[in-house]
Amino acid sequence: MRLTSFMRIWLTRSFQPFHFTSSYSNRLAFEDLEKLGLYVHIPFCRSLCSFCPYCKVAYDGETARKYKDALIREIELVGETIEKPKEVTSLYFGGGTPALMADDLALIIRRLKKYFRIRGGIGVELHPDDIDERTLDKLKEAGVTMVSVGVQSFDPDCLSAIGRNDRDFAEAFRLIRTAGFDVVDVDLIFALPGQTEQSLLADIEKAFSSGATQVSTYPFIDFTFADNRYKPLPEGVKKKMLGAIAAYCEKTGRERTSVWTFAEKNTGKYSSVTRDNFLGFGVSAATLLKEQFKINTFSIEGYIDRVENNSLPTSLTLNFSLRQRAVYDLFWSAYSMRISPDKFKASFGVLLSKLFGLELWLCRVLGLLKREEGEFHLTNKGAYLYHYIEQAYTTVYIDRMWNVSRNIPFPEKIVLK
Ligand code: SF4
Repeated sequence: MRLTSFMRIWLTRSFQPFHFTSSYSNRLAFEDLEKLGLYVHIPFCRSLCSFCPYCKVAYDGETARKYKDALIREIELVGETIEKPKEVTSLYFGGGTPALMADDLALIIRRLKKYFRIRGGIGVELHPDDIDERTLDKLKEAGVTMVSVGVQSFDPDCLSAIGRNDRDFAEAFRLIRTAGFDVVDVDLIFALPGQTEQSLLADIEKAFSSGATQVSTYPFIDFTFADNRYKPLPEGVKKKMLGAIAAYCEKTGRERTSVWTFAEKNTGKYSSVTRDNFLGFGVSAATLLKEQFKINTFSIEGYIDRVENNSLPTSLTLNFSLRQRAVYDLFWSAYSMRISPDKFKASFGVLLSKLFGLELWLCRVLGLLKREEGEFHLTNKGAYLYHYIEQAYTTVYIDRMWNVSRNIPFPEKIVLK
């Protein structure tokens, strides 16, 4: 039996797989949810990177214009179902390359603000090619307070292995520092072909010394539908590299804020996934509610068509059992390195120890978790195990789901075992 199936059966105490179906509703139950985040997907890129698994297409002005209109319509379809504006924690734009629609972001944000009060920051992912004074000014004017720069590596050889060109990163970061964002995240990939521990740590130091408040380090994963010329370095090397990153950041006074992110102390977080609940807009965007997980179609044409007909572009919906939802919550809490029993009780109305007492005890005995100030914290050993399991889920669940969704705009069902 696969590790992912074993864990699913064990943690949910059920043989019931994750069953996604095409049935959907135009009403989403988000009005009463606390800590709701927003996510908007912009699927356009100047050129398509071979390693990238995300939902994206090459930029074309006419399609982008139609997409923007559809996005506004989807926001209205969701927003018009509530009586008064809903408070939300944050808004993130991901992609794709959101800056390719920099002129439209202000309009999209204004429309979202008609229905939502955004209490936290507004974040945008940036490709290094997007960074110029004009674009950064537009983002600032639109209210963007956080940026995440997809550098991947500063090393010219590593960049070349993933089909990226070297560039003037110093000038790009000078512009970002001048613009003055509250949070600057730099995305790096580890276990790239030809990468060494030394060059990886040099990348991390360069990111922080260039002005990053947070560095996100993702393992190179070879998705089945990606077009990688080279394969990731073996898992044994990934393990050593992740250990070296954690040790280096600890030594240099940076905080581990999740299994794969490290930050300067007392800085804000850039994190679009570790939200208790979220609403996603745009192609491929996911929505997480109290009892439901749904994902939008990956087809731009299918997306535009659905919303033009006043229906949400949902392609697949999973209705959670209580235990499935609790496992999902626990999984992402563990990713952020801490599990709060109080927060769990407030979310599910049941004690964490009642649902997962055995697992918590086992994790503490094995040195994966420690209890501090009423919370459970992942140890570095626990963080490595999480990294290993997360990659397994990415390969078995996300790869499968995205692969089907890339080929079929509205699949009838997907069963993840
Ligand atoms: S890595 Fe970024 S720029 Fe490259 S294809 Fe993916 S989303 Fe587009």
